[in-house]
Amino acid sequence: MRICYSSDFHGQISLYDQFDDLVHAQKPNLVILGGDMLPDGDPDDPITPQVAFVHDEYMRRINSWQNAAPGLAVACVLGNHDWICSRMALQNYHDAGRIVLLDHRQAWHYDGVAFLGYSKSPPTPHWVKDLERLDLPDSPLPASGGTVWDPGAQCVFEARPEEHFGTQPSIETELAAAARIEGPWIFVCHAPPHGTKLDRLPSVEYPIGSRAVRDFIQSRQPMCALHGHVHESPGFTGSHIDHIGRSLCVNPGQSLDNLHAVLFDSDDPAGTLRHTVFAEAPASRP
Ligand SMILES: [Zn+2]
Repeated sequence: MRICYSSDFHGQISLYDQFDDLVHAQKPNLVILGGDMLPDGDPDDPITPQVAFVHDEYMRRINSWQNAAPGLAVACVLGNHDWICSRMALQNYHDAGRIVLLDHRQAWHYDGVAFLGYSKSPPTPHWVKDLERLDLPDSPLPASGGTVWDPGAQCVFEARPEEHFGTQPSIETELAAAARIEGPWIFVCHAPPHGTKLDRLPSVEYPIGSRAVRDFIQSRQPMCALHGHVHESPGFTGSHIDHIGRSLCVNPGQSLDNLHAVLFDSDDPAGTLRHTVFAEAPASRP
């Protein structure tokens, strides 16, 4: 099956327009969206604009792809800029059979391939903390907390690091409960694996990806792992792909004006992978 993958549009309409053109031209069987696709809300009204975007733009685009290509499946995860409210909105579309919200605890099977998804990221400087978790159980608490949604009170509140991170399972703990899969499978995970060509920022001297995600890929060996989150990494390291054991790991990167997306065939991801910007994986820099 032909798969088209991208992530991290952050609500940029020009990227959605370019992705529309790509989907209509390339006619994939499956579109996968890797999180952080929605605009950030305003600190004074953090929720309403993002949830409205889910209904008015994100799902409208998906509907248009599916109207033009009946049978097209669309699967997604979320990212650290996305609120739990947005996940609840997407869950309703998942329950209605319009999209697939990928999960790590239960595989989704499509055309002979199984998929697991994971939306959490290690702590970042971004102010939204709903989908951020400690990477490992013994990872240090971040110096500052941030804002989280309280589903009971239906409002956001400021959480201290020990309140939010100290009371939630780590990424490693959650991934330990991931479904075991026989046969070929693909992992869709917003955060890239630590210590690869996919998790570097020009402004930071060390890798910022997830050690838990790396260990998970190393031990479970999906045929392909699709990431995002660290948009700058392919431009900095010189490659949008890397390998962990036999697993091909991909972070297409993203920019504000020039769509970064990949297309590949699930029968041979490494042999068929094409990028909308990079002609081929350039030689990696030391
Ligand atoms: Zn992100």
